[in-house]
Amino acid sequence: MVIGTAITVSTALDALAALFAAAGITRAALRGALSVVLAFPPDPLGAHGPAQRRIFTLNVVRRAQFLVAAGRRITADLTAARSHSENTGNVLDLAMARERRYYAQHIAAISHRSLAAARVDSAAMMYGPLIGWYTVHDAHTTPDCLAADGKNFWAGQPPLIGYPGTAHPRCRCWPGRPHPGGKLLASARMAA
Ligand SMILES: [Zn+2]
Repeated sequence: MVIGTAITVSTALDALAALFAAAGITRAALRGALSVVLAFPPDPLGAHGPAQRRIFTLNVVRRAQFLVAAGRRITADLTAARSHSENTGNVLDLAMARERRYYAQHIAAISHRSLAAARVDSAAMMYGPLIGWYTVHDAHTTPDCLAADGKNFWAGQPPLIGYPGTAHPRCRCWPGRPHPGGKLLASARMAA
């Protein structure tokens, strides 16, 4: 199933309830998790360039993983509420508010990765598929970013540390002209 196309909560619920039940996630919890996930607009389709296509796929996977994790958390909350004879309606409201908060952070990370991928694709249009990694040199630069500086990567193969700008929160690295003779950064595909 592709999460991110225009589907309604009830359609998705009918399609997924049995699968999620097998994973220990109740229908009520799944309905809650779906309404959180589907309330945000999906990634824009028509990702241009190899980096954006890779990140689009990753974002779909992350969204599916969030749905499972949220379903499990809400199921646990409802189960605990029942065992203490609490009002499950209130518990569900609180759980949904928490999941909306988590999902907003998740969406921010998704947007950040998509923007970094768009920058890589722009660089690839200017310089070709081999891209150089650049970083700011000051006291705040992390060892990972410093080690990546001066190396190259292929636009369609995200480095293990992510694309420039996503190596860690507030990463200030950027993609640019390939470094002549620069070593290739390790990528997930190389590791596999
Ligand atoms: Zn960095």
